[in-house]
Amino acid sequence: MDFLAPLKIDELNSGVSTGNTILTAHGERIASHSPVDGKLIATVQGGDKNDYETVIAKAQAAFLEWRTWPAPKRGEVVRQIGEALRTYKEPLGKLVSYEMGKSLQEGYGEVQEMIDICDFAVGLSRQLYGLSMHSERPSHRMYEQWHPLGIVGIISAFNFPVAVWSWNAMLAWICGNVCIWKPSEKTPLCAVACHHIIAEVLKRNNVPDGINGLVTGGREVGEWLSADARIPLVSATGSTRMGKAVGATVGARLGRALLELGGNNAIIISKHADLDIAIRGSVFGAVGTAGQRCTTTRRLIIHDEVYDSVKSKLVAAYQQLRIGNPLDENNHVGPLIDKDAVIMYNKALEACKKEGGRFIVEGGVLDGDGYESGCYVKPCIAEVESHFKIVEQETFAPILYLMKYNTLDDAIAIQNGVPQGLSSSIMTLNLREAEQFLSANGSDCGIANVNIGTSGAEIGGAFGGEKETGGGRESGSDAWKAYMRRQTNTINYSTQLPLAQGIKFHV
Ligand code: NAD
Repeated sequence: MDFLAPLKIDELNSGVSTGNTILTAHGERIASHSPVDGKLIATVQGGDKNDYETVIAKAQAAFLEWRTWPAPKRGEVVRQIGEALRTYKEPLGKLVSYEMGKSLQEGYGEVQEMIDICDFAVGLSRQLYGLSMHSERPSHRMYEQWHPLGIVGIISAFNFPVAVWSWNAMLAWICGNVCIWKPSEKTPLCAVACHHIIAEVLKRNNVPDGINGLVTGGREVGEWLSADARIPLVSATGSTRMGKAVGATVGARLGRALLELGGNNAIIISKHADLDIAIRGSVFGAVGTAGQRCTTTRRLIIHDEVYDSVKSKLVAAYQQLRIGNPLDENNHVGPLIDKDAVIMYNKALEACKKEGGRFIVEGGVLDGDGYESGCYVKPCIAEVESHFKIVEQETFAPILYLMKYNTLDDAIAIQNGVPQGLSSSIMTLNLREAEQFLSANGSDCGIANVNIGTSGAEIGGAFGGEKETGGGRESGSDAWKAYMRRQTNTINYSTQLPLAQGIKFHV
């Protein structure tokens, strides 16, 4: 594990930091085992409530100074963070792959996404535009400004152990906020590694200690953040179950919650599709990251005229898949995150069969040489009906459901007929179909694509989804506005005091 030393990962690491300083932690010790081979990588000491209070106090003090830095100066710090991430891309990408289990290419891709958001945030630090308006009152000027909120709490999921945090932190920082990160307890080492990389940059730039808080631990740390009125914004990425809990707690104190939750993403394959692209897009979408992306393709809704042809091409493609160590670039599919995920996968297979699903590519858990961790499963495909309960749920594993349709209206209704609303695609070369899919009576998802799959979003667009996906938007476009408060300013430079709406008031 040559990649641990450059990232300063020891056998026992502290999981509590104020950004420039790694603190002594007093909470529970978390052992991080790799799903790749089941081996212990290292341990992380989590934070207790006192550690949390220390990080909060530092964050509050740091905010008072950081918010006065001009935004382009904050952007310059983020630019240097991007440079540091370029330097550490290889070891960090390997750690992501080894601790989380995604392919090495996807591990590097995740770090690249961090670099991309840094670039995006640097440009944005010279923008953060507000509008100006014409006042109805003479010699008055009206405009709006955007100010930072304060502390942004970031709760993240295991499947994107570093990128999701950076989407939030880089934007929050250039906006003038400070952050406290509660990473997934399943991938704590990735978080510690990020903190080591970034601490060097923060210290070099004399950034106030406290802008980059880290409190590692279980769900209780997420609960502290959610309930804490000192945290105006909680950005939480994870399951819908978690999002409902966080949303209720933050809502009860009228704080802001930015929720990025589960998906149940579908591709509609029309009879007008380029089937080669459709198959490649579907297979990558369904088995990439072993089905553990929020944007994973879980459902294919296929026109009945091309259904048999798509089915046989998919079966042939699945037979080519190599399952094994994700650090070996010859393999296509790595492990699930842990044995609990394998249990969920097995339960979904059983439920699907019970409801009448027919497996055309059988699933199963792999054992023997190379599969000692017990976390490797076979990607599988079942023919189902859209009303099956199991099809309406997100199972975080490589299970692909096939359904038939006849008219595009039906296909869109099936696609939208689930509680989640994250990502969606249509494969078609027919302009009318593509435009209907993208129109107001088309896909109800936050992401709708034509002739590419459901996964693999870019930084430039706002990322997120509707319904049980939580409604939040992160990353590109004007997602930065979620991290700021808007202030409307009216300035009177006349010698009178005219009132709006022509109201007369004499004293
Ligand atoms: P999870 O919900 O189990 O955990 C996510 C994080 O929330 C962890 O840090 C966990 O400790 C914390 N947490 C759990 N319960 C909490 C509570 N009651 N209060 C506060 N914090 C709590 O999710 P996971 O298994 O790590 O990740 C997989 C899920 O994340 C999938 O549903 C996936 O679709 C979703 N996800 C969504 C996006 C998106 O952008 N929409 C991105 C990645 C993952």
